[in-house]
Amino acid sequence: MRFKKEKDRQLFWELDIRLRYILIWLEYGFKLNNLPELKITSTIRKKKLIKNESGIHACGRAADISIKGLSEEDIKWIVKSINKKFVYGGKYNTALRHDVGFGDHIHLQVPPQGELLWGQCPGWICWNGLIK
Ligand SMILES: [Zn+2]
Repeated sequence: MRFKKEKDRQLFWELDIRLRYILIWLEYGFKLNNLPELKITSTIRKKKLIKNESGIHACGRAADISIKGLSEEDIKWIVKSINKKFVYGGKYNTALRHDVGFGDHIHLQVPPQGELLWGQCPGWICWNGLIK
């Protein structure tokens, strides 16, 4: 796992544990599929980079990953795989590809704790009693 900025290496440990799980799961998946090493471009940021940003990065529930070196086909497959395994719930997605003004990337996010709707994640992640 690589980090664009050194400070994100430390901030990684402040991220929501469910998000860290997704990133580690992805890192392994990238290796298994001979994709370039997973690169995290942004984790927790207190300042909003764009005006209408939700603030989800500020609270440790979002991270961005680079798509450099990935084919269009791989990007689509990665986003689809994440959203299939980790269901955010409601009208939101866990993974989305977008460019909000500072480069095309995959944005990852997890729901607020207590609204966790993942049906297929390991039980230990869903400590809020939403999985029997
Ligand atoms: Zn983001």
